Parts: sequence; C-alpha cells; structure tokens
Amino acid sequence: MEILDRSIFELHNMLKNREITSQELTNKFLEKIENLNKKINAYITICEDIAIEQSKKADEKIKNGNISYLTGIPLSIKDLICTKGIRTTCGSKMLNNYIPTYNATVYEKLLEQNIVTLGKVNMDEFAMGSSNETSYFGPVRNPHDLERVPGGSSGGSAASVAANMCAASLGSDTGGSIRQPASFCGVVGLKPTYGRVSRYGLVAFASSLDQIGPITKNVEDCAILIQAISGYDEKDSTSVNIEVPDYLKDLKKESLKGLKIGVPKEYFIAGINEEVEKCIKHLLNILEKEGAEIIEISLPHTEYAVATYYIIAPAEASSNLARYDGVKFGYRAENYEDLLDMYKKTRAEGFGDEVKRRIMIGTYALSSGYYDAYYLKAAKVRNLIKQDFQNAFNVVDVIMCPVSPTTAFKIGEKIDNPLDMYLNDIFTIPVNLAGLPGLSLPAGKDSNNLPIGLQIIGNYFQENKLLNIAYNVEQCL
Ligand code: GLN
Repeated sequence: MEILDRSIFELHNMLKNREITSQELTNKFLEKIENLNKKINAYITICEDIAIEQSKKADEKIKNGNISYLTGIPLSIKDLICTKGIRTTCGSKMLNNYIPTYNATVYEKLLEQNIVTLGKVNMDEFAMGSSNETSYFGPVRNPHDLERVPGGSSGGSAASVAANMCAASLGSDTGGSIRQPASFCGVVGLKPTYGRVSRYGLVAFASSLDQIGPITKNVEDCAILIQAISGYDEKDSTSVNIEVPDYLKDLKKESLKGLKIGVPKEYFIAGINEEVEKCIKHLLNILEKEGAEIIEISLPHTEYAVATYYIIAPAEASSNLARYDGVKFGYRAENYEDLLDMYKKTRAEGFGDEVKRRIMIGTYALSSGYYDAYYLKAAKVRNLIKQDFQNAFNVVDVIMCPVSPTTAFKIGEKIDNPLDMYLNDIFTIPVNLAGLPGLSLPAGKDSNNLPIGLQIIGNYFQENKLLNIAYNVEQCL
C-alpha cells in the first residue's frame, strides 16, 4: 500500500514507531501535491515552508515521547477557516489578499496537537455551491473522473483526501457542503450537531446553519479529527457547553442486532438516480440481514426544505456579507468617483455571480414588508422540519438515506441552472435546518465507477452513536 494512502491512525502508528518522520511524510505529500494539483486544483495555497517547519517541530515532540493522534499528521484546511499569517480567500476575489491576524478556534486546537498544514483548499465562493465551480480560483476536478465535479462547497477538501494530497481535511457544511463532496469523492464526512464545534474564525455564510467538520478516509479518522475540534468555546456564543465523549474509544465492533434504522419514504422519490437508490436499498438489505430493523418513517415537510433553506441561508448571507465593502476587508475597486461608488464597484467586481444572486435574494427576503412573508414563514417551516425529525427519533435510533440524489455530475452540467444545482442538496439541507449531526459514508459505486454515499443522521449531540454505527456499517461493507 502506498504510504500516502494510509489513514491518520496508521500514519500515527508509523510515526510513533519511528518508521517514518513527519518531515519525510510531509515531503511526500508536498511532492504529491506538486505533481497533482495542476490537474485536480484542490489547493488554492500550498504552505510548503510552514509545513516543513511544523513537521520539524512535530518530530521534535515525537522524539521527546510527546505524541497525540494528530502530531505530525499533514492536513489540508478549507479556505474559509482563518489561519494566522496564511491567506484565507474563501474562494473569492473579494478575499484574494486577506491574511488573517488570528486563528480560528478549530485551527488553534489542531496546532496544539502539532499538525502539519499542507495548505488551504479550494471551495465554492463563500461556500455557496454544490460543485466547486463558483470558486474564483477555478473548478476542482473529481479524482475519480477529471471531467466531473468533486461536489461542493468543500470540493477541495474532499478531492485532496480522495487523491491522497493530505491525510485528512477540515470542511464546513451549511446545507451539505461536507457530506455531498465526501459522497462524490468516496470519502467520509461528518457535519456535527450545530453547537458541537466552535465557529469562531470561520468566515460566516449562514450563521444559524454553518458547522465545521472533518473529511477523512475512514470512520476511525473521522472520530480522531472530530475529537480534536469539538467542545465549548467562549468565543462562539452558539457553541454548547456539554461534555465531549471519547469518540475513538467509543468505536466498537458490535452487532447491528436490534438497531432501529429509519428510512424516510420522502427521500426515495422521482428524480433520484436509479443506481443511487438501488445501492442504498441494497445496503439497507445487508444491514437488515445483520440484524438491524428497517423502519419506514415519514418526514412530511421534506418537500419544503430546499425552499426554506433558500430563504434563510441567503437572508443570513446578505447580512454577513455586508462587511465586504472595500473598507475593512480585502478587495477594493481601483477606479471610483466617491464613497458610494467605491462600495458599488468593489462589490460588483469582488463577488461572483452566485454570491450576488444570494445577496439579492436575501436582501429582498428581508426587506421591509417582505420579512413576515418570507423569513418569518421560513423560520416557522424550519421548526416543522425539526419536529419531523424529533418525531422520527421517538421511534428509531438513526435515519439512513442517500447523501445526494445523484453521483458526481459533469463540470458545466448544472452551473447554468441554479434550481437544478440547489436540488442536489435536497437530502442534506433538512439536517442543517434541524441542526442535527449527519455523516456521509462511502456505500458503493455506480456503473461509471463513481462513488455513492450513504447518509446517516443522528439525534442531537449523538456523534458518538453515529460514528459507532458508521464504523460497523463500514465493517459490513
Ligand atoms: N450547496 C449548498 C449551497 O449552495 C450548501 C452549501 C454549504 O453547505 N456551504 O448553499
């Protein structure tokens, strides 16, 4: 097995047993990035010098017997997580030259464990998209088929993990941006419960939905990475102060006997790709043979989820993105007449089409006289969607369904049809609206050899249960 193919857990053991140094490992990854990035375009910024310096420091720690699971492990970081002294673009021309003066809490936590930062990875502009095609830095290509998208918005994260250009990555998920690209690229992705992970230092898209989470090669690695970034943070008022379990220790091979798996009937509807449906149903059959109980459930408000999301997310985005005015951050137009003209030109030149579309939708939905009809109504429907899930969790332990109705589509296929693109998130969006944790697990491949993802949804703060079930399903496969 190629060394770069290995999981965090395996690399950790090699580092611990001194079979390799972090510096050697880092150089191998950097070489791989150098060779592949022109093709895949996963990295926006490659941090060669910083990575080498960090790897030396990690080796020093390891020598002194000071090693944790992530010490010396080379990772990539989605380019909307603030990294002190390292450019953080959010995939936008607007932040092309933005170098944060502080670290996001999640990155700070990783640094405490002496990770190696290989670089900042590509994404849809301001995390708005499902294909990574809205990035100012060009599309990312799916390592399984270079003509196809890796999914989005954490496309660079998922592609960099799938192509062995890092051991694992951090992404963010507002409506599916961790799970859908993980599914398209055949890797594991976890969106934690809203409040589990600090959002401090995450460039905000839609604050009531955004969560940071891991994208990894397997479930074990996912447990390691979520462990490292979880927990209360006084710098994020939405982070929740409850104990973080030992996710890795809780992973146990156990029988699925008696596990109640809910399968929402609304998720197997017209429009879903036949092969995706077949693959997930086949997998559910296997789990049933292993002793799990498959229970049909209903999430009756599913049909309103995408519409609800496309009021709430753009409304919050229009407010969050008001700060990019050419004064405080990033890009400023070169030629302008007065202050107002400067604002206008900066925003017209600095943002791409999709971001502008969202700002316009959001501003409209929030404008005087429309607030009650749109935002308030959407907030009410959001509560109904939450309630649907709670009713389901009264009966079942977890919910299983596809991550996405399709496998990776072709670059260019949907970019001119926003509604079609938005519908790709139909199975992931409800989970964000409810604030629940959701995990994407590779479940099989279609006839084009493209990965298909199984989504496992758990109740609030049950990441440990979710990971454990995913771990055991992974074993069955
Ligand atoms: N694809 C969805 C959107 O465009 C979700 C993006 C995300 O989760 N950041 O809004």
